[in-house]
Amino acid sequence: MEQRPGTELLKGSYYIETYGCQMNEHDSEKIAQLLEDQGLCPVDTAEMADVIVINTCAIREKPEHKVYSALGKLRALKKRKPDLISIVAGCVAQQQKQELLKRTDVLDCVLGTHAISELPALISRIRRERRRVCETEFRRDVTSLHMSAPRKGAGSVCSYVTIMQGCSNFCTYCVVPYTRGPEQSRQAYEIINEVQQLARSGVREITLLGQNVNAYGKDLKDGVRFPELLRQLSHIDGIARVRFTTSHPRDFHEDLAAAMRDVEAVCEHVHLPLQAGSDRILREMRRGYTYEEYLEKIRFLREMVPHVAVTTDIIVGFPGETREDFEATCQALQTIRFDQIFSFKYSVRPQTVAGSLNNHLSEDVKKLRLAMVHDIQSAITQQYHTDTVGSVEEVLIEGIRTATGQPFGRTRTGKIVNLEVSENVFIGDLIQAKIIKGLKHSLVGKKV
Ligand code: SF4
Repeated sequence: MEQRPGTELLKGSYYIETYGCQMNEHDSEKIAQLLEDQGLCPVDTAEMADVIVINTCAIREKPEHKVYSALGKLRALKKRKPDLISIVAGCVAQQQKQELLKRTDVLDCVLGTHAISELPALISRIRRERRRVCETEFRRDVTSLHMSAPRKGAGSVCSYVTIMQGCSNFCTYCVVPYTRGPEQSRQAYEIINEVQQLARSGVREITLLGQNVNAYGKDLKDGVRFPELLRQLSHIDGIARVRFTTSHPRDFHEDLAAAMRDVEAVCEHVHLPLQAGSDRILREMRRGYTYEEYLEKIRFLREMVPHVAVTTDIIVGFPGETREDFEATCQALQTIRFDQIFSFKYSVRPQTVAGSLNNHLSEDVKKLRLAMVHDIQSAITQQYHTDTVGSVEEVLIEGIRTATGQPFGRTRTGKIVNLEVSENVFIGDLIQAKIIKGLKHSLVGKKV
């Protein structure tokens, strides 16, 4: 346990409910670590906890709705346990601020995205002063940026490392610039120190996190940009693999593809959100590239990094998306043949430019388009998985499936491989596996 200086130890237990994206999951892991360092122990259900944190996401409407239903359930718990402390953290907290406290009297604390590291002190204050608090100021130096935490479900061998936070792009559909503030990069030496510490503790794979990692370093004076950061991290003993997410196509250039080609530790996988195949919609989204420009990035990437896996995000039903616009997206999927996609129906986000447009599509149309996109991609992903059968892939063993006892891990391209139960492997092993089956969402392999 590593108590933070100037804070008192806390008594009791905590439970965290997380909604939304990878960045949020990582924040929840940081919150868990902070609370445990201060003395709270984790419990499996909200009913058992003395402190409940609901870590929210505002990128889409659905996770936001879940917050209100979770708050509804808290009322009964609070009745039974009046000393229970309830906290809403994350993007919804950042966006709604005091409004959230006004909306419900069961809430004790609204914790903004830049205030994570203050949570233990805030819990002490709430217990001492019996007063509700709202901490949502944006700061220049975000302390929680400097904390790492293991990747959920990957034992102790894989870790996320946040290299920057916030975004300054203001795509017209997105709330991130409002909820996480402008882009802020960490100093390269801090990231390197953190990765060295992780390597000493047995971590073998790191995933560098940021809303737009390609912009890393633009706001710093020391001149280290993202490709150079990858090169520097690859010299750290013990780190076998480096991944990164998310890349913005506008800022994805040949120097990054060259780093991927030249630096052995950097895995052959890029998540490059396309969002739409129609130039008109891309313009409306203010994405900063045309479809042709995106295709050119894919061309040089595949040429420079053979066998690279490319995944993407797609939004269907953006306001005013015509049948032709949508068909352009379907055509893009067929042309580019992504390894995997994450597709979503457009939903109105408060404060955004697109939210105030008046040509929204009906839910039925959006649902239908989403289903069509799923169908196209399922066939492509299945084909990729089938084509992998017979090949030998490097797999880092991340854990053992609780239900089946099967060891599992990922290929360098990010695909999940489940091994036979009888395989004699350990978490953290880097093995060669022959792929014997290609399923819809994963591969089955055999150690060679
Ligand atoms: S690049 Fe656009 S979509 Fe991505 S976080 Fe920034 S504003 Fe949101």
